[in-house]
Amino acid sequence: RKADIECRMLVLGAGPGGYTAAFRAADLDLDTVLVERYPSLGGVCLNVGCIPSKALLHAAAVIDEAAHAKDFGVSFGAPKIDLDALRGYKEKVVGQLTKGLAGMAKQRKVRTVQGVGRFLSPNEVEVEGESGKQVIRFEQCIIAAGSQPVKLPGFPWDDPRVMDSTDALMLADIPKKLLVVGGGIIGLEMATVYRALGSEVTVVELLDQLMPGADKDLVKPLADRLKKLDVSTHLKVKAASVKAEKKGIKVEFEGDNLPKDSLFDRVLVSVGRAPNGGRLDADKAGVSVTERGFIPVDRQMRTNVSHIFAIGDLVGQPMLAHKATHEGKLAAEVAAGEKKEWVARVIPSVAYTDPEVAWVGVTETEAKEKGLKVGVGKFPWAASGRAIGIGRTEGFTKLIFDEATHRIIGAGMVGPHAGDLIAEAGLAIEMGCEAADIGHTIHPHPTLSESVGMAAEVYEGTITDLY
Ligand code: FAD
Repeated sequence: RKADIECRMLVLGAGPGGYTAAFRAADLDLDTVLVERYPSLGGVCLNVGCIPSKALLHAAAVIDEAAHAKDFGVSFGAPKIDLDALRGYKEKVVGQLTKGLAGMAKQRKVRTVQGVGRFLSPNEVEVEGESGKQVIRFEQCIIAAGSQPVKLPGFPWDDPRVMDSTDALMLADIPKKLLVVGGGIIGLEMATVYRALGSEVTVVELLDQLMPGADKDLVKPLADRLKKLDVSTHLKVKAASVKAEKKGIKVEFEGDNLPKDSLFDRVLVSVGRAPNGGRLDADKAGVSVTERGFIPVDRQMRTNVSHIFAIGDLVGQPMLAHKATHEGKLAAEVAAGEKKEWVARVIPSVAYTDPEVAWVGVTETEAKEKGLKVGVGKFPWAASGRAIGIGRTEGFTKLIFDEATHRIIGAGMVGPHAGDLIAEAGLAIEMGCEAADIGHTIHPHPTLSESVGMAAEVYEGTITDLY
């Protein structure tokens, strides 16, 4: 078979994993082709994930801050929402970033090919685009085809009122009544946005806590605030039957503590993401794919076929952009001959809800399950001057230490900006810091970051009364 394009490195998928891998490979002098189905680079994260959701969450935060300002004597009128302008703002943010990526690809002479790629053999991919099919022959390949929302079977997906996260980010309208099926990070972020814009929001979650994966105590301040803001949340409840009717989406629930409504203007289904590994004809390249569509890799991100690597959402949890970029860099460096490996242990998770919930390393729940001997230093933000100043004292910072060495192995935070604050704990874990190292580090006063040092001091016993 004659190839239309030949290259040393082919990267399949241009999400945060794929574009990072392609740019790194090109910087390391591998002649690189980047294949992407959509016209813009950036994948889920830039186009329909992290970035647009955070742009909308910023608008939500401003609305909430304005409402909160009356506590300190400043009143604004009711928010007037120009949905077209808000959508335009979100698109401008996304556009700025995707345009930047296209420029970075060009600068590095990464050739981008638009179309859907599938393997033909261990060294060939066929790309089907608008202008037909092309065969690309490669020496090495990095699969970075990501994931997509799980579409629960039996739901009327052909009705636009039943949405996945991509649909919800389109902001078609502000539904009067919105049901969110699935109380994980994405569901709760979108609930936060739509609630601030004026929707009456109901959340149902099958498990016994919101945001499964985070420690229960971290989620409580968020659950309390959602309740205060009239978001009605229902745990251990299943949306058993969903039918599209003329006057709304009719939902039958199963469980105790059922929602009072059964008719909604829109339903967002956010019950997880499915890896795209099974959609690439990977078997023709001899690459193993699990039944669920994940591609197993080793510590260097190599699949079972040694010149083919895989990274990002399709190699496993947690499905997060910063994990994908790290893996992308590693795969490109290994492909270029560097002797490296990486085991992902310290990957922060952040929910950009209000309050934010963030955790990294070992959680308390995990420590208990594994029988680890740990101690916890917890600093309530009610004792932080800065938290009091901003009127948000519900948060706390907790650090988890190995009892034998006093080394930090995990951290969790809840409160405004917890997502920014968690980075320090990640570094401390990576550096093998002991509680005293963190406690002796001078944090600027008055900041929320002081809570990190204080939590370490609480653990060490060098702060006994919280003033
Ligand atoms: P993806 O971003 O999924 O990119 C894969 C790319 O491959 C896509 O562009 C796809 O079109 C392309 N592709 C797939 N198959 C083919 C094919 N056969 N041929 C050609 N191209 C193909 N993560 C965070 O870290 N922080 C957040 O705040 C955050 N917020 C999120 C909010 C939402 C609403 C969603 C949905 C996700 C969010 N995520 C967040 C998760 C994050 O978006 C993903 O973890 C990240 O995008 C994964 O990167 P990736 O490179 O593995 O794959």
